[in-house]
Amino acid sequence: MHEVHQVQKVVAEALAAVKDKNIPHPKKAVLIVGELLGFDEGCIRLYWEQMIADTVLSNTVLEVKFKPALLECKTCNIQYPKKGSDLQCPQCRKLGTLLPSGKEFFITEIV
Ligand SMILES: [Zn+2]
Repeated sequence: MHEVHQVQKVVAEALAAVKDKNIPHPKKAVLIVGELLGFDEGCIRLYWEQMIADTVLSNTVLEVKFKPALLECKTCNIQYPKKGSDLQCPQCRKLGTLLPSGKEFFITEIV
């Protein structure tokens, strides 16, 4: 249910960016979504479509890119992406610590 507010925010940001950069007919917007948010791509798209109707973004295709959460192993001093529910370090198999990433939600590119 958090998707709606987040999408509202990025639509507002996208509209501002388009105005800023003077793009009359934006074709594509790339949205980065942190995997840890647990957002559903279908939901995001649905809200996006609803909110861009009747705006300059109405023909803008949304590309959703999921960003995996990162874990850190303090023993090996490495960072690695989280795969499903597997938290183990790929080298020493110890449990890694979740880094404060994977909660991103923003438009990275609009053309
Ligand atoms: Zn390790």
